[in-house]
Amino acid sequence: MPKCPKCKTEYVEVEVDFEYGDIILRNVKALKCPKCGEELFTPEQYRIIRERIRSVAQPLKLKRKISTAGKKPIVYLPEDVVKAINAKVGDEIDIYVEGNKIIIEKTA
Ligand SMILES: [Zn+2]
Repeated sequence: MPKCPKCKTEYVEVEVDFEYGDIILRNVKALKCPKCGEELFTPEQYRIIRERIRSVAQPLKLKRKISTAGKKPIVYLPEDVVKAINAKVGDEIDIYVEGNKIIIEKTA
């Protein structure tokens, strides 16, 4: 078990609540210094936290109106949505239609 850098005391494994935005994860494993209360997460504990956040997070879904620019229909993409597909302004995207859906996909 790693030691607390302040107290040189061995950490013990505890379960804590982990807050991430609106999400609260219960019973998250962490390491805690029994002396000063310092908490930390091992890379493995972080990996589990990330997976749990991903599984409870609502998929990005937002309402947008179709606007016009030069009489052509346009839709503004929220930054979070663009980031979520690892794209940025200037990147190429593919747009295609599936039933009544317009799919925007980052060009591979
Ligand atoms: Zn400590």
